[in-house]
Amino acid sequence: MRKPIIAGNWKMNKTAAECRELVTALVPKVKDAKCDVVICVPFTDIALAAELTKGSNIKVGAQNVAWADSGAFTGEISAAMLAEAGAEYVVIGHSERRQYFGETDKTVNARLTQALKYGLKPILCVGEKLEEREGGMTERVCATQVEGAFEGVSAADAEKVVIAYEPVWAIGTGKTATDEQADETIGYIRSVVEKLYGKNTADGMRIQYGGSMNAKNVDGLMAKPQVDGGLIGGASLKADDFAYIVMAAK
Ligand code: PEP
Repeated sequence: MRKPIIAGNWKMNKTAAECRELVTALVPKVKDAKCDVVICVPFTDIALAAELTKGSNIKVGAQNVAWADSGAFTGEISAAMLAEAGAEYVVIGHSERRQYFGETDKTVNARLTQALKYGLKPILCVGEKLEEREGGMTERVCATQVEGAFEGVSAADAEKVVIAYEPVWAIGTGKTATDEQADETIGYIRSVVEKLYGKNTADGMRIQYGGSMNAKNVDGLMAKPQVDGGLIGGASLKADDFAYIVMAAK
């Protein structure tokens, strides 16, 4: 049995004051959650979010991590800095990073390796663009991204990773993959993990769906056997909406 995991991706939203307001409202609403609960916040909110969630069941994550220990990498944040600030998780390879900031399977692999080295739990994002789905390329794109991300990663380390299947056409668009599309593609991704690491690792790996997941569609998606939770963007920015999704994940 895989424990579901619901993670909020705040993207570039919430100042420290807004973070305080949201987290304070969220803590009591999700205290009886049956799933793991994570909020992936902007770098500047990590220490505050960690402080505000102390003693609660909410874990804090970052949205990216540098591939080097330290040094001349202006604008980057190291894994040690994230861990010290209180992050336990880190989103890696989000499609917005791939699309706007030149992230490639190689840099995703380097960041993932670095996160694992410092004990951070990666949430690895993979998924196809609309034209790739329409061109029948979904499986090939997801396989290439998964294989690239896990290059050189041991089975023991791979087991610490959560994968988020996020069809790019569904992110922030209000268009959700159907329950069947999500289930089928996640099942395929699990088969790729099985080829890399064997059945036990694949069966144990948590693979979320992400892309306009909300209070209306969470029940259908979560009812699918392959869907182990969600990575939630827009709907994670309001305490009631995010709490509803969290409480629906059993
Ligand atoms: C995301 O940012 O990973 C995401 C899935 O966003 P949204 O829920 O807004 O589509």
